[in-house]
Formats: sequence, structure tokens, C-alpha cells
Amino acid sequence: MSDCLFCKIIAGDIPSDKVYEDDQVLVFKDINPKAEVHLLMIPKAHVASLDELTAEHDAVIAHMMRTLPKLAKEQGLADGFRTIINTGKGGGQVVFHLHAHLLGGNNLPGFE
Ligand code: 5GP
Ligand code: ZN
Repeated sequence: MSDCLFCKIIAGDIPSDKVYEDDQVLVFKDINPKAEVHLLMIPKAHVASLDELTAEHDAVIAHMMRTLPKLAKEQGLADGFRTIINTGKGGGQVVFHLHAHLLGGNNLPGFE
């Protein structure tokens, strides 16, 4: 996806504040943090949103869900954390490369 912002971040064409990387996912700091800790986790293989998932994505989605709590603990969020996945324009999605927001610490927004 040559015009995808997050694919450009994966390729290194756009800089990011990288926190974690493995063969399947990249995690970096959100450029406009909504809480003390605000990371974005993205699959390295482009998929636009939850709406586009197929069985081929099952392994990477499971990997994301299992990696998020490890990252949260590494960020010092021992008490817990919030994950948000916006899907589609109606869900507030702005960047159409699937991403999980990982939020925690002070100023945690929404759903209190
Ligand atoms: P969405 O609303 O699509 O769920 O969230 C997109 C997120 O990407 C927003 O929280 C926004 O701050 C973040 N974002 C947009 N552009 C960039 C960028 O170039 N770099 C980083 N690190 N985050 C970005
Ligand atoms: Zn992409």
C-alpha cells in the first residue's frame, strides 16, 4: 500500500518513535498522545481495518492480543491498560491500516 501512512512508517520512510518490533508487528508512540502512555500497535502486513479481516489474519490478531499486555507491563502499567480499535469512519478511524491503541497511566480518556 504505497499511499498508506503506517506502511510508510513500517518501511522507515516516515520516522516514528519505535517501542517494540518483531516479525509480525510494530509498536510506536502515538504522535498526538491522549494519555500518559499512548502506543499504536500495527501488523506489518497491510490490512485496512477489522472490516477487512479474514482467516488468514487469525495468527497475527492473536499475536497482537497476546503482545499488548506484555507491552503494557513494560510501560509500567501494572494496574491495567485500555485498548481501542476504531473501525471505519463511523468508528472514528482516521488511518486505514489496522491499529490497536494502547492507553494507560494518567489522563486515561473515555469509558470511566
Ligand atoms: P485512528 O483515529 O485512526 O484510530 O487513530 C489514528 C492515530 O494515529 C491517531 O491517534 C493519531 O494521533 C495517530 N497518528 C496519525 N499520524 C501519525 C504519524 O505520522 N505518526 C504517529 N506516530 N502517529 C500518528
Ligand atoms: Zn498500510
